[in-house]
Formats: sequence, C-alpha cells, structure tokens
Amino acid sequence: MFHSRLASRRGTRVGFRRRTRREGAMTMVIEADKVATVHYTGTFPEGKVFDTSEGRDPLTFLVGHQQMVAGFEDEMLGAAVGEKREFTLTPERAYGERDDGAVQVVPREQFPEEMELEVGRTERVQTEQGPLQFSIAAITEESVTVDFNHPMAGKTLRFAVEVVDIRDAAPEELSHGHVHGPGGHHH
Ligand code: ZN
Repeated sequence: MFHSRLASRRGTRVGFRRRTRREGAMTMVIEADKVATVHYTGTFPEGKVFDTSEGRDPLTFLVGHQQMVAGFEDEMLGAAVGEKREFTLTPERAYGERDDGAVQVVPREQFPEEMELEVGRTERVQTEQGPLQFSIAAITEESVTVDFNHPMAGKTLRFAVEVVDIRDAAPEELSHGHVHGPGGHHH
C-alpha cells in the first residue's frame, strides 16, 4: 500500500517534468540560427506602403546571417509564433544615411549607345566588388548623374511584422548562410 502510493507520486512528478520540458521546446523564439517566417508591411513615416508580403508568400530568412537589415532582426529577437510587433528604424539601423560621395557625374559616352537612359531608372553595373545598383539622377547631352546610394538610404522605415513560423536551421543552411526550401534557395 505504502509502496504503491510512493510509486504513483513519483509517476506524477516525472509526468510534470516531462510536460514542462515539452512546453519549453514549443515556445521557440526568433534568435540566431533559426529560420523565421514572417508577414510584414513596411511603411514610410507618412504612411505610404513601400513593401508588403500581404497577398503573397511570407518572408523566410535565416536569423543572424546578414540576410536582413540588422535593425529588423534586432527588433524581432525573442518573438514567438503568432506575435505581432511594430517598430521604427532610423536610417542608421536600416539602409544607412545617404552619401553624397556616392553620386557621380559620368560622361555620357561611357554608357552603351543602345542603353536607354531615363531619370529615375535603376541599372546595374559589374564591379570588382560584385554587381552594384545605381539609379539615374539627371541626364544632360554630355553627362549622366548616377546615384549609387541604396534607394532606401536616408529613409526612416516603419514595420508591422507578424511571426508565422520558426524552426531550427539545418546544418547545411547554416554553412550556406541562407534558407533552403520554401521561401529560400532551391539548389
Ligand atoms: Zn544553399
């Protein structure tokens, strides 16, 4: 009689421990080396939407591998599935301040003749550091003013984010530095 009561008490305790351990594993949060899937809407402070995942697939990224601007990840650290967060990133936490030195006046003959030049148009050039994107800021008969600043440089960005899914990254994803499968690379 005494033994069986002790046994059942022990059983209860073991069961309780198991349950807490499983609950701990279920509250996975966004942290380095996790693969996070989120829905997001980005707006400028005046309210204009510049990008949103609404109506399309959510965004999937490997946390802690420079896939996102650092400020975005910092603000989402510790968030669990279903959690919604809103935050504002000043330029230094988003795409950096604008650099006037990144605006250059280039003689027009340096551009291929067949290349359609139009103010506001975004083009890409190959450099020793890899592909570089620029926009055309001005055109005259002799020259073209090109702007190598990131289009979002100097801008304050607001984000509303909802966490859809979090999982552990596979060893292969960690070594590649990006996500494989849905929302990621297929190779
Ligand atoms: Zn890969």
